[in-house]
Amino acid sequence: MSTQVGATVWAGEPREELRRRLQALGFDEVRFAAIEEVDGQGLRDWLAAGMQAEMAWMDRTAEKRIAPGLVLSEARSIIMLGVNYWREQLGESRSQSPGDPVAGELAPTIANPRWARYALHEDYHDTICPGLVAAGKILESFCGAQETDYRYYVDTGPVQERGWAARAGLGFLGKNGMLISRHYGNWLFLAGILTRISIAPDAPVRRKALPPQGAEPAGLLCGKCTRCSDACPTQAIPRPGVVDARRCISYQTIENKGIIPRELRVGIGDHVYGCDVCLEVCPWNRFAQAAHAVLLVAKTGIAELGLGELLELTPVRFAEVFRGTAIKRVKLIGLLRNACVVAGNVAASEGRGCRYLPPLVKLAAHESPVVRAHAVWAVWRVTGELTLLSAARAMETDVAVLAEYAAAD
Ligand code: SF4
Repeated sequence: MSTQVGATVWAGEPREELRRRLQALGFDEVRFAAIEEVDGQGLRDWLAAGMQAEMAWMDRTAEKRIAPGLVLSEARSIIMLGVNYWREQLGESRSQSPGDPVAGELAPTIANPRWARYALHEDYHDTICPGLVAAGKILESFCGAQETDYRYYVDTGPVQERGWAARAGLGFLGKNGMLISRHYGNWLFLAGILTRISIAPDAPVRRKALPPQGAEPAGLLCGKCTRCSDACPTQAIPRPGVVDARRCISYQTIENKGIIPRELRVGIGDHVYGCDVCLEVCPWNRFAQAAHAVLLVAKTGIAELGLGELLELTPVRFAEVFRGTAIKRVKLIGLLRNACVVAGNVAASEGRGCRYLPPLVKLAAHESPVVRAHAVWAVWRVTGELTLLSAARAMETDVAVLAEYAAAD
C-alpha cells in the first residue's frame, strides 16, 4: 500500500485534469465522491423483507456495500463513471420512446419479443473493463497511486454504485430505484473506482427546496410523477426507490434460474430478457442522447429474432447468436423458458391454429423440467386445454411440471 497517496488532496485544476483524462477514455460522466459512512438501514430493511429474492450474494456482501473500507482499507474517494448506452432501436423514434406512457402495455400483435436495451450490446462488463484498466493506469501515472491503492467494479462488486453516483452528483435516485441523469436520462452504465487517493468531491444534485428531514431520499427530482410505479406490469415498486426483486421482470427473466411464479407470468408480457418499462416511461429520458459507443459495442441480430426462432433455438444457434453478450448467462434453458412465457402471453387464446404451438408442444418434452413446465403453461394459455400434451403428460415424473398440468385441470 502506498502510504503517501492520500496525503495530497486533488482539487482545482489538477482534479479537472484528472477528470478530462478519464473522460478521454470514453466515459461520458466522471464524478467524485468522498468515502463517508453510509446509512445502511434502507439496504438492511430491503434484505430483511426478502426483496432480494434468491440473490444470496446481496446478503453476503451487505456490510461491504455499507462500509467501502471493508472492500479497500483507507479508501478516501470513489470515482464514479457513467457510460451512456441509449440509441434508437428498430421501429422507434426518439420522440416516441422516452416517457412514452404506453411503453408498459403489451402490444396486441407481436412483432419481436422485447429485450432490455443494455442486452443489445456485447457484454458491458467486458467492454467497459478495458476503460477501467486504463483509468487505473492514469491513477498510477498521474496521481502516483500504486496498483493496490484502487479497486474498480462495474456492476459486479460489493459497491452501491447508484448511491455513490447520486452522492457524486452524477444524477439522482429516481422513484424507480435507478440513477437518473439530467444529461442522459435513465441510460447510464455505472462503474466505480474505490481509491485511497483523496479527491475533492463533486456536489450532489440538489433542488431549490430540499425535502423535509426524514423524507424519502429517492425521487428528489421526480415531483409528483409516479409513471414508473404505475407502469410496472408486475407492481414491483411498492414505494418510491424500492424495487421488490421477487416481482421484478428483470429478476424473474434473468436472475431466477427456476420456475417463474405463475401469478407473474401474464405481467411479463412480451419481455423475453429483462425489462425497461420503469425506465422507458420516465420523463427524464427527454434528455437522452445517442451513445458515443466508445466503451460499447452494439450487437446486431438479437432484436431481429422472431419468437418462433427463439422457441426453436438449438445449443449451437444459441452459442452463435449470444456469444459475447450478457444474455448468454441465462443459458439456453433460461431463454427457452422465457420464450415460452412470451408465447403464452402474445398468443393467448389463439387456439390450435397458433403458429407457436408446434415448437411449444416439442418443448413440453424438453430435457429440462424448467422448460417443460413453462411450455405446458404456454400450451394451456394458447389452447385453453392440454389434450395436445397427453403423451408428454403420461411420461412426466417431475413434480414441478406435474403441478403445471394439475393447475390447468
Ligand atoms: Fe421519477 Fe417519474 Fe422517472 Fe419514476 S418515471 S423515476 S417517478 S420521474
